Amino acid sequence: MIVSKFGGTSVGSYAAMQHSASIVAAEPDRKLVVISATSGTTNDLVALGNSELSYTEREEILMRIEKRHLEIIEQLKDGEEVDKQVRLLLTELRQHLEQIARDKRWKDHLVAFGELLSTRIFTQVLGEAGVEVEWLDARDMMKTDSHFGQADPDLKVIKKKCAKYVQSGKRYLTQGFIGSDIFGNTTTLGRGGSDLSASLFAEAVEADMLEIWTDVAGIYTTDPRVVPAARPIHEITFDEAAELSVFGGKVLHPATLKPAMRGGVKVRVASSSEPNKKGTVIVHEAGDAPVIRALSLRKHQTLLTVKSLDMLHQYGYLAKLFQVLANHKISVDLVSTSEVSVSLTLDTAVSASNKVELTSEVVTELESFCELKIEKDFSLIAMIGNNLNNTAGISGKLFNMLKGYNIRMVCHGSSENNVCFLVNQEDGEEILQLLHKEFIED
Ligand code: ASP
Ligand code: MG
Repeated sequence: MIVSKFGGTSVGSYAAMQHSASIVAAEPDRKLVVISATSGTTNDLVALGNSELSYTEREEILMRIEKRHLEIIEQLKDGEEVDKQVRLLLTELRQHLEQIARDKRWKDHLVAFGELLSTRIFTQVLGEAGVEVEWLDARDMMKTDSHFGQADPDLKVIKKKCAKYVQSGKRYLTQGFIGSDIFGNTTTLGRGGSDLSASLFAEAVEADMLEIWTDVAGIYTTDPRVVPAARPIHEITFDEAAELSVFGGKVLHPATLKPAMRGGVKVRVASSSEPNKKGTVIVHEAGDAPVIRALSLRKHQTLLTVKSLDMLHQYGYLAKLFQVLANHKISVDLVSTSEVSVSLTLDTAVSASNKVELTSEVVTELESFCELKIEKDFSLIAMIGNNLNNTAGISGKLFNMLKGYNIRMVCHGSSENNVCFLVNQEDGEEILQLLHKEFIED
């Protein structure tokens, strides 16, 4: 059984939907299809959530959403029924915007319209491509806690809810990104969360393979926009890919791999517009294990340096520091410590809705027990591969190559799959090009 997820661009127009539908049609084992909202729609819905919009601005966005979907329907062979369903959803969307009480619940319900719209239309496109699917409301299966905007899925319940679909032999289509809490409120898994939904479904139904169909032909050795010589990676291990997705490989949502990895589900990343290209397969054990397989660059890193003499020969100090950050849901990436200071990096560019912010509240709380220094706009470069902590000469070569640049922090040794360091943002791309040439092209 294969779970196939199609991203926003893969369902962004009638032509894209047709491509994606023919992929589903080509393999009868593609039993569960999970899709995102059409590209641009979630951003539009997020914009509609802004209470300061003028009437004209609001109408402009609404019309854009309506047009995008109705245009696809016009091209269907038999769009009558789905036209009714979609117009009903669009009316519900307008009604939802009239609501005066606007809390977090309201926002999650608002952004969920994107996936509800796209799945209605894609059901018909699939039907016209000869694939009969049953449309499922993901909120009946994807049960989560009530942390709106970034809800935590409850795998046990999800497994139970999915069980009845597993043996049926039928084919299904459902929404990524959305779920519901125990009270039945609509929740969302965080921006880009459709990959995570698909991965959770794949684990829950014990699929053999999870396919992520997107607009690039797999995972590349590095970002091809920065390094044109970057090439697709055919096979990569979960451990390597996990480091890559966390450290800026944009193809995958960082948390996506976890459920698939847990469930022993193979993952394939491929392009829906070029389905014959192999893409990348993520497996437990790959055929080769190069020391350096890929490089990643992540911009907009904040460096937080915490200093206090209380730290000297003390216990519990770091625990206290991390507790404050945890209480504010701030995630830390790199850590380096000395006797009286700790440096941490925070990703301040996760995405528009999951933005990590050092609010004045956090700063005040931290300043009550330590001295703080906050510096912004660094780039984090990660080298991902195998046996990096046991390969002689890697750091020597690296430091030698980078002697003309200012390196602010290095993390080496805690992972066999990753060496990473922090540099000034303006040097990031140049360094990436240098490293790719040295370690991957040559
Ligand atoms: N539609 C959602 C978003 O744009 C989820 C996704 O595309 O994965 O964030
Ligand atoms: Mg997406």
